[in-house]
Amino acid sequence: MWYNHHMKFISHSEEETFSVARYVAEKCIGNEVILLNGDLGAGKTTFTKGLAKALGIQKTVKSPTFTLMKTYQGGRLTLYHFDLYRIEKEEELEELGFTDYLNAGGVCVIEWNKFSELPGKIITIDIDYSDSDTRKITVHFGDEKL
Ligand code: ADP
Ligand code: MG
Repeated sequence: MWYNHHMKFISHSEEETFSVARYVAEKCIGNEVILLNGDLGAGKTTFTKGLAKALGIQKTVKSPTFTLMKTYQGGRLTLYHFDLYRIEKEEELEELGFTDYLNAGGVCVIEWNKFSELPGKIITIDIDYSDSDTRKITVHFGDEKL
């Protein structure tokens, strides 16, 4: 599946967004970096909750607003959930040791990405708000968008 292609989904509810996340989770075997793009309230964290659930992680995913990154173990793959909204300079990511997680064998999900270079298999997901319950979700496999 690591040729460049994309798939489009329309989600009418959180549950449908969870289904898209499950579809993506099933493709993951380790060392994937999932970039989540979308405005505040689009559903990036909701998508991550669905991905965690599909990986078999029991803990509830909460936005890592203060820690910038949270690790979730106990699932089929370790999930590293980043929210880099507050990062201004890319060097901060190195200082925090965050680069090490990108190819540590798990799945990295990044909201508000600030890394300019990413190793491994990249999945870019655009979530566009249509109305209060409806989202357009485009999943790009490969690095066609970088
Ligand atoms: P972000 O992380 O992008 O800022 P959140 O996931 O925190 O967004 O919030 C998305 C909000 O939108 C949640 O309150 C969620 O219940 C709501 N929502 C409504 N419809 C959907 C949908 N189809 N998919 C995802 N979230 C949805
Ligand atoms: Mg969020």
